[in-house]
Amino acid sequence: MAAFPLTRAAALDRLDAFLPKAGSAYAARRNLVDAGGDHRNVSRLSAALRRRLIGEDEVVGKVLEQHRFEKGEKFIAEVFWRTYWKGWLEQRPGLWTDWLAEVQALDAALDKAAARRLEAAIAGRTGIDAFDHWARELDETGYLHNWARMQVASIWTFTLGLPWQLGAKWTYDRLIDADPASNTLSWRWVAGLHTAGKAYLASADRIAAMTGGRLHAEGLAQSPRIPEAPAHPPRTPLRQPVAPDPAQPALVLITPEDCSLETVLPALDVRAVVVPRSLARGLADRTALDDAAMRAAAHWGCAVRAPDSLAPADLAALAAAQGCTQIVTGFAPAGPVGTALAALRPALAAQGIALAEHQRAWDRLCWPHCGKGFFNLKARIHDLLPELIGQKAPDQAASAMIMAPAR
Ligand SMILES: Cc1cc2nc3c(=O)[nH]c(=O)nc-3n(C[C@H](O)[C@H](O)[C@H](O)COP(=O)(O)OP(=O)(O)OC[C@H]3O[C@@H](n4cnc5c(N)ncnc54)[C@H](O)[C@@H]3O)c2cc1C
Repeated sequence: MAAFPLTRAAALDRLDAFLPKAGSAYAARRNLVDAGGDHRNVSRLSAALRRRLIGEDEVVGKVLEQHRFEKGEKFIAEVFWRTYWKGWLEQRPGLWTDWLAEVQALDAALDKAAARRLEAAIAGRTGIDAFDHWARELDETGYLHNWARMQVASIWTFTLGLPWQLGAKWTYDRLIDADPASNTLSWRWVAGLHTAGKAYLASADRIAAMTGGRLHAEGLAQSPRIPEAPAHPPRTPLRQPVAPDPAQPALVLITPEDCSLETVLPALDVRAVVVPRSLARGLADRTALDDAAMRAAAHWGCAVRAPDSLAPADLAALAAAQGCTQIVTGFAPAGPVGTALAALRPALAAQGIALAEHQRAWDRLCWPHCGKGFFNLKARIHDLLPELIGQKAPDQAASAMIMAPAR
């Protein structure tokens, strides 16, 4: 059975082990879904990347140390899909809160027949072999291969006729890499709502081919019925966070949005590390947060505090006791952590404490290119790379490869 790294050390080990396969082998084999559950053709780094136990710059930088740009390009482009979805949602954050509201309303309004179909789907009892296999795999492991996610979302929406929003809730609640942007927007993409009129339709033949004939899918919808939905909301400007003040002492607040802050803010004057339990959505988050807290405390030589909640008065008191007027955390994009911090910010400000967010260069440089289609970002990857991975001073050979690839 596959394993999914949830500590930084495990993620770095996984990356090292996967590197030889990140070039042409990945390009050729990444979509072959191993129905035995051993996902050896893909990196299985998503749970670590999602929480930034390891940075995109680290992953891409290492890939380019081993592979020429054109060989590693397919894998690198996949890493940028995560960036794209985050940047796209960040410019339409209302889609996240709309989805939360729609889930509640749809849940309450399901008729009996739809409720039975939904229950059967989640339990892996639809009678569609491939769907049932993947529903059970998701339940047992918290992971599905990307291609399996596409089939599952398509069958849910077009064959079972269930609302995509409730499918997105199902996977968001179970995926070990659950991510507001990648999950919600991928479901919208499959349903035909991201690129107007373009839906993803699962096919029995392709499922048999990609699973080496192990999985079958009888009775799939032959055409997609794209759900009615309003047009995309207009793009809003990217949020400009208050940046940390390197001259001031700080409390560091660790959230599941950035679990390796010590690697990007090594010289910050940190007096204590705070890891609020209420921000963990489950065991995977707790494991990552514990690992992050331990590393942060060791790096900055300070204590860890683990309050149950984000009560502003408690945080302000803790900051004051340590002589700090700023609390520094990783940038929290649209999602539950972003919502929690948006509420915390004014409450702390009222007590004279600034909540500063460190925005990684990766996001700052890429997100402005994420407002339209993915290819708008993809076309810039090559030119952005030197600056993106230059943050970590890649070796000369890697830089040379990036500067002069055949496109
Ligand atoms: C319906 C649906 C729901 C999804 N929900 C999530 C989710 O909640 N969280 C999540 O992290 N990913 C989600 N994805 C994207 C993708 O399936 C996973 O990131 C990928 O399968 C993770 O496995 P891996 O690390 O082995 O990927 P690899 O193939 O090894 O790719 C390397 C890295 O690139 C990124 N990546 C690859 N494919 C995608 C993609 N299509 N979109 C965004 N990033 C990608 C991931 O960070 C991944 O770790 C979803 C995709 C679909 C179709």
